[in-house]
Amino acid sequence: MKTITVFMGDGIGPEITDAVLKILDAAKAPLEYEVFRVGAAEYEENGALIPDAAFASFEKNKILLKSPITTPVGKGFRSLNVTLREKYDLYANIRPAKSNTAVATPFKDVDIITFRENTEDLYVGVEQQIDPDTVHATKIITRKASTRIIKDAFEYARAHGRKKVTCVHKANILKLSDGLFLSVFKEIAADYPDIEADDKIVDNVCMQLVMRPQQFDIMVMPNLYGDIVSDLTSGLIGGLGLLPSSNLGKDYAMFEAVHGSAPDIAGKNIANPTAFLWSACMLLEHLGELEIAANIRRAVDEVLAEGTCITPDIGGTATTTQYRDAIIAHLA
Ligand code: ATP
Repeated sequence: MKTITVFMGDGIGPEITDAVLKILDAAKAPLEYEVFRVGAAEYEENGALIPDAAFASFEKNKILLKSPITTPVGKGFRSLNVTLREKYDLYANIRPAKSNTAVATPFKDVDIITFRENTEDLYVGVEQQIDPDTVHATKIITRKASTRIIKDAFEYARAHGRKKVTCVHKANILKLSDGLFLSVFKEIAADYPDIEADDKIVDNVCMQLVMRPQQFDIMVMPNLYGDIVSDLTSGLIGGLGLLPSSNLGKDYAMFEAVHGSAPDIAGKNIANPTAFLWSACMLLEHLGELEIAANIRRAVDEVLAEGTCITPDIGGTATTTQYRDAIIAHLA
């Protein structure tokens, strides 16, 4: 048994957490949970968005399954997601987007993994009001952070039999910052002659992703492009309800759906828990529990393929709980 920390956020967070934990239990995942409520409601009652005990639990267990959290709008709150990534140096954000034949989209055979650098770029949040009508934002790119994410992308490609890594950048305009990212990419690519390496400018990538997404395999890029381009890849496979992610550092690992807390559908029992469930599968794979993850993935595929018990975002009429129970019924 491995104890993991679970953050139950807000919006659709509690509903999809309930679904995922019940499926994990039904699949006999060898996990025990320390579950914490985090986010706006926790702040209003107890004065902290993330209670100290929740941080302490993650620091002890090193593995976090995190449902979406709303960062209250207003002065003084940094995004909780950015805070967690920085505090635990979760520098590699890995977002796999894979077509499922059962989910109708105009795009076939998409199988793209985005490696997004998670700690720097414009997300360092350094903005300066120069005068009432002028604001500067700072973009930071370092050799150290670029090296580790690019290396991870190539190592992953090699370990998982992937063929190509594409560097996504805007080095034609941002000659120094993206220029550094690109030159580090080219240096590292030379150490992996068995993996094809190419680079593309981010605007061209957006067009190519819509015209011919099958040409992409693994993509690696700085933080902001990774945020935007990976949402685009989720559109290719049927929407945000289907895009999981891992956030990995040297010591800690956090698994979460890419989507936010979807307040527009919260409490209606119609949220799609698939992205969060697949994030939990990535967690199981990270822990070496390959068979249990495969069993859950197969059950999800079967329920999606039957198509009679799927959530409204992907064209069905089922509730979150009906979909959850259908997956449980399909587990081996
Ligand atoms: P954030 O800024 O926190 O990423 P956001 O404003 O981009 O959040 P989301 O909360 O991700 O937005 O939601 C975007 C849209 O996608 C909303 O209409 C929401 O209802 C829908 N959506 C997001 N996640 C799901 C889900 N799991 N199931 C169904 N619909 C979802």
